[in-house]
Amino acid sequence: MALLITKKCINCDMCEPECPNQAISMGADIYQIDADRCTECIGHYETPTCQKVCPIPNTIIINPAHQESEEQLWDKFVLLHHADKI
Ligand code: SF4
Ligand code: SF4
Repeated sequence: MALLITKKCINCDMCEPECPNQAISMGADIYQIDADRCTECIGHYETPTCQKVCPIPNTIIINPAHQESEEQLWDKFVLLHHADKI
């Protein structure tokens, strides 16, 4: 599943540079996650690093609109980082 940034975001800028997939960017009011680029950090970290660095608890949550299996997340990782080697 991709993750989602909720309205609790205070635009502290901590998460954006930490994302290994460049999935986080500033939206109209708060930061947002591109679901097509978020792999839950699979292939890079044990746990979602944006959640780890966010200072406001429960601001970054599972995106219910983007349910994906672990296999689908791995496929996304390969497409994002190793497409040239397929
Ligand atoms: Fe980026 Fe990982 Fe957060 Fe997804 S979970 S937005 S890949 S840092
Ligand atoms: Fe918003 Fe949390 Fe990212 Fe800071 S780390 S910009 S509060 S989502």
